[in-house]
Amino acid sequence: MKRVLITGGAGFLGSHLCDRFIKEGYHVIAMDNLITGDLRNIEHLFKLPNFEFYHHDVSKFIHVPGELDYILHFASPASPIDYLKIPIQTLKVGSLGIHNCLGLARVKNARVLIASTSEVYGDPNVHPQPEEYWGNVNPVGPRGVYDEAKRFQEAITMAYHTYHGLETRIVRIFNTYGPRMRLNDGRVLPAFIGQALRGEDLTVFGDGSQTRSFCYVDDLVEGIYRLLLSDYAQPVNIGNPVEITIKQFGEEIIKLTGTSQKLILKPLPVDDPKQRQPDITKAKAILGWEPKVSREEGLKITYDYFKSLPEEELYAAAYNREFSKK
Ligand code: UDP
Repeated sequence: MKRVLITGGAGFLGSHLCDRFIKEGYHVIAMDNLITGDLRNIEHLFKLPNFEFYHHDVSKFIHVPGELDYILHFASPASPIDYLKIPIQTLKVGSLGIHNCLGLARVKNARVLIASTSEVYGDPNVHPQPEEYWGNVNPVGPRGVYDEAKRFQEAITMAYHTYHGLETRIVRIFNTYGPRMRLNDGRVLPAFIGQALRGEDLTVFGDGSQTRSFCYVDDLVEGIYRLLLSDYAQPVNIGNPVEITIKQFGEEIIKLTGTSQKLILKPLPVDDPKQRQPDITKAKAILGWEPKVSREEGLKITYDYFKSLPEEELYAAAYNREFSKK
């Protein structure tokens, strides 16, 4: 049985990856410090003999007994609200955390796949964004802690690949949605659906003309799985190229939820990218991958998930998690 370590295994993407690797017959070790992850995302796996959970901060030395075939580094806060609340941890997990993963990979002779992001392109001047574009990032803005950590993560991963000959893969993930997103993580989809369910107006930042391209989580996981098993070490964009303005997106959520509330405009956050759309030519050519789930289908599944959550969660404080300042 092949063995995979998934850091951030209790998070939104990490937990879906745990499910996928379990389904594929792997022994899965999930690691998470639970700052932004949630054990409820993986509690259905605890009964399985081929699943283990380590409550550990990947920024500290990692010890995993036994062999490892693959390491997937998905630990990181991943929403603008999180970067503002926990900027130091965001930088540490993308620097010290990946360093530990790469060291572990060398010892275990494992292949490493890292979760990078469309944020490496910053507020892009090239549209749609191909992997060759180097980006337009403000290192000292509020998003800098995330963007630069992820850029560093790509650089150190590539250095281990070229200097140590380590097998590495880099996925640049564009906006992704689906069940297990945190209702209070500040991202646009949980924000809009949460507001609709509470009977509040939907807060559009700026004039809503900024664009994003939303990928359903199952499509993303398929792309990541294919990339891991491929022999391609350069970065690959995985995302859905169907682009939409945030205002249109709000209107879709109003229609989906049937809320009688309306869109209201709020100030645009600093350095909020104006447009974002992945160029997925490489993913198509190298992995034979493209997204399959339409936004209509994916949003319905996601809405049903949020509707099924306990009511108190819907009304819980916007951000109420304990986190260490270290
Ligand atoms: N956004 C919004 N209202 C909200 C939350 C977000 O209009 O309540 C906007 C945000 O300014 C951004 C887009 O939606 O332009 C996507 O935001 P998100 O935080 O989901 O992701 P990112 O900016 O990292 O793509």
